[in-house]
Amino acid sequence: MTVPIPAPISGPISGPISGPIPAPISGPTPVRDTLPPLTLYLAAPRGFCAGVDRAIKIVELALEKWGAPVYVRHEIVHNRFVVDGLRAKGAVFVEELADCPPDRPVVFSAHGVPKSVPAEAAARQMIAVDATCPLVTKVHIETARHADAGRQMVMIGHAGHPETVGTMGQLPPGQVLLVETVADVATVAVRDPDRLAFVTQTTLSVDDTADIVAALRARFPAIVGPAREDICYATTNRQEAVKAMAPLCDAMLVVGAPNSSNSLRLVEVGRRAGCPYAQLVQRAADIDWRALEGIRSVGITAGASAPEVLIDEVIDAFRARYRVKVQLVETAQENVTFKVPRILREAV
Ligand code: SF4
Repeated sequence: MTVPIPAPISGPISGPISGPIPAPISGPTPVRDTLPPLTLYLAAPRGFCAGVDRAIKIVELALEKWGAPVYVRHEIVHNRFVVDGLRAKGAVFVEELADCPPDRPVVFSAHGVPKSVPAEAAARQMIAVDATCPLVTKVHIETARHADAGRQMVMIGHAGHPETVGTMGQLPPGQVLLVETVADVATVAVRDPDRLAFVTQTTLSVDDTADIVAALRARFPAIVGPAREDICYATTNRQEAVKAMAPLCDAMLVVGAPNSSNSLRLVEVGRRAGCPYAQLVQRAADIDWRALEGIRSVGITAGASAPEVLIDEVIDAFRARYRVKVQLVETAQENVTFKVPRILREAV
């Protein structure tokens, strides 16, 4: 099943995400010195975050421990290349627990799951391994803690995104109110404005979310929540790098999947930060070379679920057409790692 795109990219879209792949360069191999020059800015940090890295490792370790097939509920991370690679090793991706046989292990994706899912796995006596990113689990814990304290929950997130579904599913249906925009804040109907709390999806636009939080605090001064929001370090760092890079570039490409919330946000951030053309590509074959005619500089980044091999592929595609000079735009260094669950650290 295709997961709905969390939110449309606002503003004019410079070109299709995919589309006709331009004809390959024909004729003799171009002599490097005759190629046009291009400065290629490479954002850092970019690509895989600690939560994605851990989720992939969990599936690989589960396959080592229990052999194939290992069932995975939902795409483990939003990247087809990653999913296909794990499928080739013996992972089977399903949308619902009911699609898994009870005698095979099941892994829950990095986005997190509603509380009902592990409960159902336990009732069916399945081996279940939770690959929910620990930073998403932290939001689940906050949600439960506020509800225990008698506060009604408001979640800032994208309707239908698996992370939002998982976080809202920490409480019984109808208990968490969803707001997606500043306009939603004006109409949300709460039980008691003095007993409210909010949490956020971890992969939102930092700037848009700050506006929504400000609107919530203005309408409900007693609302409690995290000091700023729950947007994770990886989302924040990738957006900061794009903000620094975008004004330098004639064009910017974000390597990522169309259902990856944090990748879509990077496209938006790039456009808002002044890059005239910012586009999502899943891999090099998606690049619209006609739209890039005449550019002298391009910025490249990648969403948190895009592997570095796809970024290398995009860089190689530019090297085949341009005399490329690479410049790193580094705004932060990351050294976050998360442990895999204990069940995978124990011997069979
Ligand atoms: Fe975890 Fe953030 Fe990566 Fe999501 S984007 S998996 S919350 S580190």
